[in-house]
Amino acid sequence: MRKSIVLLTVAASFAAVASAADRPPNIVIIFADDMGYGDLGCYGHPSIRTPNLDRMASQGMRFTDFYCGASVCTPSRAALMTGRYAPRCGMASDKRRVLFPTSKGGLQADEVTIAEILKKQGYATHAIGKWHLGHLPQYLPTSHGFDTYFGIPYSNDMDRLAAKGPKGRAAFLEPRVEYWNCPLMRGTEVVERPAEQTTITRRYTEEAVKFIKQDKDRPFFIYLAHNLPHVPLFRHKEFEGRSLRGLYGDVIEEIDWSVGQVLEAIREQGLEKDTVVWFTSDNGPWLIFNDHGGSAGPLFEGKGCSWEGGQRVPGIAWGPGRIPAGRITSELASTLDFLPTAAALAGAKPPTDRTLDGYDLTAFITGKTDKSPRDRFFYYRDEAIYAVRQGPYKAHFTTRSAYGPDKPVKHDPPLLFHLGVDPGEKWNVASQHPDVVERLIKLAGEQDAGLKAPPSQLENENIK
Ligand code: MG
Repeated sequence: MRKSIVLLTVAASFAAVASAADRPPNIVIIFADDMGYGDLGCYGHPSIRTPNLDRMASQGMRFTDFYCGASVCTPSRAALMTGRYAPRCGMASDKRRVLFPTSKGGLQADEVTIAEILKKQGYATHAIGKWHLGHLPQYLPTSHGFDTYFGIPYSNDMDRLAAKGPKGRAAFLEPRVEYWNCPLMRGTEVVERPAEQTTITRRYTEEAVKFIKQDKDRPFFIYLAHNLPHVPLFRHKEFEGRSLRGLYGDVIEEIDWSVGQVLEAIREQGLEKDTVVWFTSDNGPWLIFNDHGGSAGPLFEGKGCSWEGGQRVPGIAWGPGRIPAGRITSELASTLDFLPTAAALAGAKPPTDRTLDGYDLTAFITGKTDKSPRDRFFYYRDEAIYAVRQGPYKAHFTTRSAYGPDKPVKHDPPLLFHLGVDPGEKWNVASQHPDVVERLIKLAGEQDAGLKAPPSQLENENIK
């Protein structure tokens, strides 16, 4: 009896090894919209309950210093999808910060996306949710390496119907689906308008679970980009009134439920050893919406600016077959690193005919090293470097409030903060560390000289 158990165990572990060797891992990126650094239980929120994300973090790797590629939606998504800061792709602008329904531009065909790299490796590729890299057919996910697309192609507050509901911000405080005329698309067709947003998180989740089952025998890439918790806030009726944090908390708890459904589907199909899942957010919390926006926790400011609250976001990596459980790291990582990391996991080479700003994190997340290959991060606002971080130090060359009418304020010498001692960026230590200031000025200067931005796609508009 004992012998047969041993044999079975050996056979089972051999099968697991053979399975891992036979196929590259599935890759799933779950991307929240405007979720703040402090909005999850495992990042310290006192009244939003996120048991699924907390469990995902404890079974995987949680990053305390994880950065999205920009502080607003479109450039952040361009950075994630291409591994390049948005100005390199023409996806940033100081005149129009994101794409709008009137925009004629979008992510250009010659950009190489994560989906294109993985598709070439035989992956099934699915985009679900918010795209915001161009809503015209030539810019949609199906033109950028995805086999399928189901989602609202831009932000859920666009296409506001001015005649419906209260004026201005009041519409956001008592949101109703019919105040916004957002399209829901399947492939390149609009299948519902206005999109029924109270069930959108649930339907995106069902779509992801469907593909996990359908594609279980081949490698797949699922990009699940929720429209929420971007305002206007909507959630399924099952989540109404659940959270002590109010409507915003309900929305986060539904996204947490969604993460649980996705991980459970992966387990049910026996794919947990063959899948790597990332969870993060596209930018910090939209603080101008008060309790309808999230929390940056101990960080200063939120969405739209280059202070930490604008770009430091929750970051969790999960993959029981590859990523050791229970690690919490303060090393640097970014959504810019997803493309080189996905390429390495899939056995592909990232493009060599262009500059990438991302790093391959494979050795780091799999526990072969404690050090991230990323030692620097540049905070672009629109097309300019406003700040740079290297190691624990961050220098601000320019500051500006997220959405205020103020003009940019230049700092010479730059402001300098030690983010280990001072994550809230309160105490300028530039005068105590002139050598660090000099090093960071040089670093930003080299980056700036090496980035020649093409004309911005965001300024290409058709305003009637
Ligand atoms: Mg956003």
